[in-house]
Amino acid sequence: MQLKSPFSSGSQVLAGLLLPAVVALSLSVFLLVRNAGGPLELAVLVATVVTLLLAMGAERLWPYRQEWNRAQGDLATDVSSAVVLVAMVDPLLKYLAPIVVVALYAHFNLSGLYATVLGQWPFLLQLFVVTLLIELGRYWAHRLHHQLPSLWWLHAMHHSSPRLYAFNNLRLHPLNYGVSFLVSVFPFILIGVPADVLLGYLAFTQPVVMLQHANLNARHGLLNYVFSTNELHRWHHSTKAGEANSNYGHALILWDQVFGTFRYCKGANAPESVGLFASSQARYPAGASYGAQLVSMFSRRCCVS
Ligand SMILES: [Zn+2]
Ligand SMILES: [Zn+2]
Repeated sequence: MQLKSPFSSGSQVLAGLLLPAVVALSLSVFLLVRNAGGPLELAVLVATVVTLLLAMGAERLWPYRQEWNRAQGDLATDVSSAVVLVAMVDPLLKYLAPIVVVALYAHFNLSGLYATVLGQWPFLLQLFVVTLLIELGRYWAHRLHHQLPSLWWLHAMHHSSPRLYAFNNLRLHPLNYGVSFLVSVFPFILIGVPADVLLGYLAFTQPVVMLQHANLNARHGLLNYVFSTNELHRWHHSTKAGEANSNYGHALILWDQVFGTFRYCKGANAPESVGLFASSQARYPAGASYGAQLVSMFSRRCCVS
């Protein structure tokens, strides 16, 4: 049974320090590399991988649920999904996006829009504004994946995991990943946001996202009003739709507070169980292979949001 104490233990506080530490470190290193004219993509990649490894290590030290550290027939699906996203889908989107942008410029050229509006602002201010706006796009992309049945068919894959641990962060249908990219990041490429601002956004948010699904018994206190922490995201994976249709935030939780979907219990954020909603459990092949799950999304009997 989960202890619902309003007070945090020493280990919970210690585990909670991981998030601000990695965010601060990632952003600091990014700014140093930028000032030195170094490879920014590499700085983001290192921050992402190091955070993921730290999350996996911290799960062993301070698990929220011991049983979530044991594979439940889901490891192959999560590894397959991660490989497809990281090695195929993400590089493909980065390759195609500039081609599409150039094609669109033949009809309407928006490349100077960003430079005119924000381009002269200090870098950190640009980063702040762009982060808020990309997060707004991600918030609505995620929320619509819950509210529109045709998108829920894609998003059910992410919610089908029977446990929460660092690696199932990367269990996402490729089309779900693509739609989110199209709604959140692509418009900023279209209006000419410089690469260092977009990479700065990733340096700031990737550490948050890599910790978001961690099986970590952490208390984040006031940071729960800023970041989409693993405490908050646990509600989002509840099997009860009333609890799960909340905390849609990608890295920030601001837009949930603005649009009334923020869910946070100061004592303990402990849904009874995580996984698909009851309405989808009977139809979705949660135990099937990654390939079968990919295809099942297009079955008329797939899922109910
Ligand atoms: Zn969701
Ligand atoms: Zn999630």
